[in-house]
Amino acid sequence: MQGEVDKIVIGRYIITLDEFNRVISKGAIAIRNGIIVDVGEYEEVLRKYRAEEVIERKHHVIIPGLLDCHTHTQQYLLRSAISDIMLQLPPIWTKVLVPFERTMGEDLARLSTQASIVNMLKNGITYFIEAGAPYPEILAQEVLKAGIKGVITYATYNIADDKVAETCEVLEKIRELYERYSGKVHIWMSIRQVMMATEDLIDNVIELSRKYSVGLTLHLSEYQGEVDYTLAKYGKRPLEYMLNKGISDIKPVVIAHGVFFSPNEIELVKKYELGICWCPTVDAWLMGLHWAGFTNINNIKLGIGSDGGAWGKIDLLHEVKVAKALGKAVANAITYFKAGLDSTTLLNMITGSKGSIVGEKIGRIERGYAADLVILDYKSTKILPIHNPIDLVVNYLEGDNVTDVFIDGRLIVENGKVTTIDEEKITEELLNREDEIREVVRGLIKKLKITQTPT
Ligand SMILES: [Zn+2]
Repeated sequence: MQGEVDKIVIGRYIITLDEFNRVISKGAIAIRNGIIVDVGEYEEVLRKYRAEEVIERKHHVIIPGLLDCHTHTQQYLLRSAISDIMLQLPPIWTKVLVPFERTMGEDLARLSTQASIVNMLKNGITYFIEAGAPYPEILAQEVLKAGIKGVITYATYNIADDKVAETCEVLEKIRELYERYSGKVHIWMSIRQVMMATEDLIDNVIELSRKYSVGLTLHLSEYQGEVDYTLAKYGKRPLEYMLNKGISDIKPVVIAHGVFFSPNEIELVKKYELGICWCPTVDAWLMGLHWAGFTNINNIKLGIGSDGGAWGKIDLLHEVKVAKALGKAVANAITYFKAGLDSTTLLNMITGSKGSIVGEKIGRIERGYAADLVILDYKSTKILPIHNPIDLVVNYLEGDNVTDVFIDGRLIVENGKVTTIDEEKITEELLNREDEIREVVRGLIKKLKITQTPT
């Protein structure tokens, strides 16, 4: 007798990222109540199950939904605003990014959020971790409307060069957000940066993470000046300092960047099962080479992040190519080892180490996991022929090849169009408000010390 399911999705190749990283040729996925109930060769799946709906994509690869482990949904309107000259300002976030967040206002925050979400969905990102939104309630509302999965946090800091808020005010905002939206969306705690938070704020945020039993995300070891700062102020490197504050009690913890780790700090990452989010493009632009290229990363929950739309495409399939080139470059230079950061490892990273970075049953096409699926079209002279589907995805395909996206079994992107959002309206608004957005940015740039053009 055939089992009843809601949907069967058929593809030419299914990259499961299961325990054995199986690739199924001519495969199918059976979905019931948003959960994968079976995956296998399509003839077998069609024999075993009867579905209300069968969706077939003939010249396509199906992969698990992608997880952007570090983004800023409310910095999207800064696209192309930060010049190469401005990158030199130490640290750039207190000069442009944070001041922009503080001046943009609710309307622009909503537009930024909507544009970020459309981009993520169309590029196959089904789950994201927000580093700290100045308007987190707007983000929560838009997440619920769009049907994307996301961790929402409040922009948690009280110093931006100078003191900008009282600790109690910041904590009150976090509590309000948690009380209004927990249970509806994932609310986590965040700390923007050790240099942007007083010790009492850090202590209180860690305490709230424990009290609410929620995860924590923070920028850490992203700036050489930050390592000097914590060594001079607290006698410890940034991660050693945060562990001393008690972050090892919190599950999960996702550290954005984590570029400047000592060998001891890398051991601590493994010991305390901390998630690390490598942002290949931004880390290369602002920080340098990440240790992920030449370190044994087997026991590390390593994910890949975009760091938001201010820096480039919010496209993890693009980031993975940058990561591969950077990782191999550093490994070649130091160890002359060319086989590291292979395509399977990198695919695991863009699903947040198969979802383990957030501790949820996502990131695999396997029975019992959420039916978060990304379908990619390979029928193009730019791509064909195919020898190895995993290398195909990592080396050749990008967000532009995404045709369909399922989240919890629901078709959120269909033939390249987001079904839950009016994308044309957002594009119109971006065009109509371009002058206003430029004016806000121009006002910030005027205050910067660096204004000369490159010679
Ligand atoms: Zn960031």
